[in-house]
Amino acid sequence: MREDVKQLLGLQETDQKIEALEADLVRIPKLQEAAKERLANDTQALATAKSNYQSNEIEIKNVELDIGTRRNSIDRLKVQQFETKKNEEYTKLGSEVIRYEGQVDELETRELELMEIADNLRTKIAEADTALAKTQGFVDEEIAELEARATERKAELAEAKATRETKVAEINDEDLMDTYARLFNKREGQAIVHVTNARSCTSCHVQVTPATYALAQSGSAISHCDNCGAILFP
Ligand SMILES: [Zn+2]
Repeated sequence: MREDVKQLLGLQETDQKIEALEADLVRIPKLQEAAKERLANDTQALATAKSNYQSNEIEIKNVELDIGTRRNSIDRLKVQQFETKKNEEYTKLGSEVIRYEGQVDELETRELELMEIADNLRTKIAEADTALAKTQGFVDEEIAELEARATERKAELAEAKATRETKVAEINDEDLMDTYARLFNKREGQAIVHVTNARSCTSCHVQVTPATYALAQSGSAISHCDNCGAILFP
């Protein structure tokens, strides 16, 4: 292989590494956000469970208030019943008492139902709490791992960029560097590629002419793929 092509191939390896590291550094914060999002779902689930429990508690309080109001009415009616001299009024007050007592029964049944619901809702809160704690553990761990990965990638990137500078300095050919840079972008990192024994360019997978292939083999000049322009090495 020609020395300059060999050097470019080395540079390309470094550039591919830099691209991969940079892509990962873009990816990491997104992964951290996604991890936090999972936490948000569990936090929301816990808040909903707590809110449902609170609403149920308010309903229980209201039922209890209603029961209290009716019991007061019953007491008052009974006093009136005791004080009245009229038979007709006595009977009327008595049926009022029965009506309120019926309502108290219904309300007490309702209160029991609500208390059962409260038990279920307490269980749901406990479950949501456990799930959140578990997710929190995973998320904390994942975020810490991603943080460590980012630190590692930054160090690797700095190292790769330093290596790149050294390699660029060694090549010391501006035109060749321009061609390389253009091809690296156009061919998505596949600027310097192997040409197979079947004369296939491994950047675009099109077969090159025998002359191009022969040039790549002899190395008397830099050989470019006839189709995509990639620099070929045998
Ligand atoms: Zn090609």
